[in-house]
Formats: sequence, C-alpha cells, structure tokens
Amino acid sequence: MVIGTGYVGLVQGACLASQGHQVTCVDIDEAKVQSLRAAKVPFFEEGLEALVGEGIASGNLQFALGAEEGFSQLTPEVIFLAVGTPTGADGSADLLIFESAVKSLIPHLAPDMVLVEKSTVPAGTGKKVKAWLGRNDIAVASNPEFLREGTAVSDFLQPDRIVIGTDDDATAETLKNVYAWSDAPILAMNRESAELAKYAANTMLAARLSLMNEIANIADLIGANISEIETAVGADPRIGSKFLRTGAGFGGSCFPKDVLALEQTGRELGYDSRLIRPIIEVNTRQAEVFVDKVRAAYGDLTGVKLAVWGLAFNAKTDDTRESPAMRIIGLLLDAGAVISVHDPAAMDEARKGLGDGVVYGKDQWEILDGAQGLLVLTEWDQFLQADFGRVMSTLEQPLVFDGKHALPAEALRGLGLKVIGIGI
Ligand code: NAD
Repeated sequence: MVIGTGYVGLVQGACLASQGHQVTCVDIDEAKVQSLRAAKVPFFEEGLEALVGEGIASGNLQFALGAEEGFSQLTPEVIFLAVGTPTGADGSADLLIFESAVKSLIPHLAPDMVLVEKSTVPAGTGKKVKAWLGRNDIAVASNPEFLREGTAVSDFLQPDRIVIGTDDDATAETLKNVYAWSDAPILAMNRESAELAKYAANTMLAARLSLMNEIANIADLIGANISEIETAVGADPRIGSKFLRTGAGFGGSCFPKDVLALEQTGRELGYDSRLIRPIIEVNTRQAEVFVDKVRAAYGDLTGVKLAVWGLAFNAKTDDTRESPAMRIIGLLLDAGAVISVHDPAAMDEARKGLGDGVVYGKDQWEILDGAQGLLVLTEWDQFLQADFGRVMSTLEQPLVFDGKHALPAEALRGLGLKVIGIGI
C-alpha cells in the first residue's frame, strides 16, 4: 500500500504494480483519486500515465480514498508513507501531514505489517512514528527515495542504490523482497542513517551547485569562462563532472526544504552548522544576480517586453515549486518588465502563482513577437534545440539570457544573438 499519490507515491505505486506487486494507492484528495481511477494522472511525469493505465488494466493497481477504503481493498504486508513534508516556519520539516497520515492507519494495522518512511523525514522520525503507533508489533523502517522529477519512472525502475534503514533482519528481508526485481545494490543500515542519508545526498548536490555558482560569479568579474572551469574541475575523479552546472539557481520541492531541514535537525540536536544555510542563501541570491544581468542589458526595465521560455524547475515536469523561473519572473515584474511566458507542461501550475500578472503564450513562438529579449529558464529540449535563426529574426533586440547555462552559446552568437548568462 502507498499512502499519498504525489510525484513520489504514484511513481512508487505504479512502478511496483508494474513489477507484479498488488498495490493500493491511497490519497485524501477526492478529485485526484477519481482522476487516477480513470487512469488520468493530474500532474505531468513522463511515462507515468501509461504505467498507471497498465497497472489498472492488469488488476495490480487500485486507488482508494482514505485509509479505510484502502484497507478494504488490500491487506498489505508493507505500507509506504509518501505524503508531503513541507518546510515549517523555522526551516524544519513540518511533520503534521505525515503524522496525520500515520495516525489514519492506526485502526487498520495488523501485527507484522511494515510501515515505511518513503517521505523525506528528519533523522529520528522513525522513533516518533513508533510512539504515535503506541505498539511494538509494527515495524517502522526508512526507505528514502532518490528519484528526480522529469525522469522519475526510469529513476525508480533503474535506481543507483536502494537504501533500507532498519535494525530488524526480518523487516530488511521483507523490504528486499519488495525490490527483488531490481539489480541495484541494496544498502542496509540503521533507520537513523537511512533517514539522514537522504538529507546528506540532497544537501551535497545542492552544495555543489551553490559552490559552482559562487565561482561563476567570481569568474564573471575577472572574465573567466565557467564552462571551461567546469570541465577542468569535473575532470578530477575525486570531484566528478556531474552537478556542477551553474545558472540562476536550483529549485524544486526538495533541495531547498531538505537543506534547511538538515540544518534545523542539527540545531535541535545542539549542533550549529556554519556551512549548510549559506547553500540556500547563495541559491536565493543567484536569481537576483541573474536579474541584475537582465537589468544591466536594458538599464531600466520599466515597460521592457521580455519572453520567458520555461517555468518548471526541471525539464519534463510541470512542477513549479521553488522554481527559479517563478522567482526570476517575480523580480522582473517588480522591476516593471512586461512578461510573456511559455512552458510545454507547467502553464497551469504557474498560473496558480503568477495569476494575471503575465501573458501566457500558447506556444513558444507567439510570445517572441514584439519581445525585446528572451529568457530561457528551463532546459526543455524544444527550447535548447529551437530554431535560433527564427529567434534572431523575431526578437526586437538580439538578446538571449540563459538561466540554465544550457544553450549552445557559440552557435547562437554565430547567428548574431548575444547570449548572456552567469559565468559566460
Ligand atoms: P506531493 O505533495 O506531490 O504529494 C503528496 C500527496 O499526499 C498528495 O497527493 C496529498 O493529497 C497526499 N496526502 C496528504 N495527506 C494524506 C493522507 N493523510 N493520506 C493519504 N494521502 C495524503 O509530494 P511529493 O512531491 O510526492 O513528495 C512526497 C515526499 O517525498 C516528501 O517528503 C518529499 O520530500 C519526498 N520526495 C520527493 C521527491 C520529489 O522529487 N518530489 C523526491 C524524493 C523524495
């Protein structure tokens, strides 16, 4: 059983069903459950809708509104908790939704069921779950999820590693059986280590990005090229070449919240980290650094018409949570710019945050008419591989701002476009 049918829970449920497990996915959002029963996924994740359809057709995948209905459909051996754990007022992970989900299960639990933290929860949460349950015959394990939105289905089905956190051999065996279809290494450890490993991974990745952005900002001041620096640094096998890409900052529902939550976990344990919070501070400032570049190109932004390609925080997702694009658009609107936007998947999500403040283009080309510059803020293929000759002939001024450091800058320059980014 999977509790919560968001980006993580639905991927988990549909993928496990595709591997032959009997799965009931539970949610408390009635519209979502109805939509899923009709094999319609209410958010965009490549390959997921097809997998949900196949799961329903095979009889392996069912959906339930609330725990009671879920347990009437299935007596699960394993229950994955995959509800949201947003940032609380002090930066810690707010566990209210998670706690409420755990408590909704209590009347239905039977001895020897295994409850698994799939949600990202602070180290020590397993102990709290045990206390909420108030009984010892239910095992509580951690099995953090490392998938990335945009490639979630393939990440889940071909993981680098599967982390299982429990002190109990029988529980570890049960969870290994859930993943028997995978040949990924299983890393078994105690529950606290597994809980902390998820935060460590996200914080490490976020730190690399922020550190490279700091270097890119310095590179700009001295006329160095961050692409060349990235290649030189990434060639060191101790460092590796992944996750060094600079730009206007990272986003998404996980990195910012998990980094802050790790800092707060340390604080609650009496440890004052000096390194963790600046990862987020640098990232937040990076959007401002990027907007400063736009401002510098025009002087005053009042009335300047700018087209934006990309709203989601990653390509191949419609998720705009903490998206740098949304932050940058907000800053540009505050500065008086007139913004038109297009994203192949995230228009509806973006509308919730931007309202009527911008013009929504039905395709990426119509918003270029009359625009004095183009900002590329999500690395969708259709943007990176666009016909930039057409961009050049349509824009009123030949200015392209690359917020992801992903455009073929030399080729664009060859067409007469000026490419402006951070560190380039
Ligand atoms: P989400 O907000 O997309 O989905 C959460 C779902 O849980 C929603 O559909 C909500 O209606 C449902 N829900 C809330 N309370 C419930 C309850 N009591 N019973 C049943 N369903 C309930 O969240 P998400 O992005 O899938 O993230 C879930 C967890 O996984 C978080 O802890 C997150 O940090 C972690 N995580 C997310 C990602 C990611 O890329 N999104 C990756 C790894 C880990």
